[in-house]
Amino acid sequence: MTFTTRFAPSPTGPLHLGHAYSALLAHDMAQAQSGRFLLRIDDLDQSRARPHWEQQIYDDLTWLGVTWEGEVRRQSDHFSDYSDALNTLRARDLTFECRCSRRDIDAAANAPQEGVPEFGPDGRIYPGTCRNLALPPADATCTRLNMQTAAQNAKASFTETGPSHSGTHTIDPKDMASTIGDVVLSRRNMAAAYHLAVVLDDVATNVTHVIRGEDLFDATRIHVVLQSLLGLPTPSYHHHGLIRDDAGKRLAKRDDARAIAKYRADGASPQDIRAMVGL
Ligand code: GLU
Repeated sequence: MTFTTRFAPSPTGPLHLGHAYSALLAHDMAQAQSGRFLLRIDDLDQSRARPHWEQQIYDDLTWLGVTWEGEVRRQSDHFSDYSDALNTLRARDLTFECRCSRRDIDAAANAPQEGVPEFGPDGRIYPGTCRNLALPPADATCTRLNMQTAAQNAKASFTETGPSHSGTHTIDPKDMASTIGDVVLSRRNMAAAYHLAVVLDDVATNVTHVIRGEDLFDATRIHVVLQSLLGLPTPSYHHHGLIRDDAGKRLAKRDDARAIAKYRADGASPQDIRAMVGL
C-alpha cells in the first residue's frame, strides 16, 4: 500500500511552531517515501471550530510549502459514520451510557488507592459509577467504552517508529482497564469523541502511517483497541518529540506568540520556521 500520512489540526486557534513541525515532518516523510500527504480538519467540537481558523490553516500550510493531496476531509461531514460505528459497539455490549459530570467523577474518585493510577490519557480514570446501571441513552450525557470487556475482546498490537517508544507494543487488557479506563466515545452534544472519530477517519482515508506528537502516544492504545473491535486495519505510528517554549512547556493553542502567522507577519521565511523546529 502506498505510504499515506496526514496532518489533522483542529480549527480552534492559530497553528503554532509545534503544528509546523508536525506538518512539515509528515510532509517530508511522505515525500521521502514517494507517498501521499493528506489534510484533515478535526472539527468535531463545533462549539469551538471557526471558519477563519480553518482558512488560516490553509494559508499557513500553503505558505510553509506543505501541499496536500485531494480534498480535505472535515470531521463534521462524517457524523453519521461515527454514529454507525458507535451503534456497532453498542449492539455488542461493549459500551455503556453514563450520566456522570466531571464533579461526580472527581467525588467518586476521592479516595485514591495506593499504587492505582488516578489519571490516564483522557484525564481522571473513570471510577465505573454508571458501568452496570444499564441507563437508557435518554438519561445519559455520554457513551463510554467498557474498557475491561473491550480490551479482552481486542487482540491488538502496534508498531511505533518514533524516537521515544520505538518497537512493537502489545495491548494488555488489565493494563488498559487500570491505566486508561472507560473512555468517552460520544457526548450528547458531540457525535463522536476524538478517539472514535480519529480511528474511522484514518481508515476511511487509507492512512498507513500516523505521524503526530508524543502527547498522543498514550492514546494510541485506545485507538488500536477500537480498530481491533471494529475489524479495521492498524496503521504504523510515529510519535515525534514536542516543540516546547523557553520554560520547557509544550506549546498550546493559546501560545499566540509562537503562531506561524505571527512569525510570517514579522518577516520570517518558511526556511526560518524549518530551522526553528530543527528540520
Ligand atoms: N486533531 C488532533 C490534534 O490537533 C490530532 C489528531 C491526530 O493526529 O490523531 O491534536
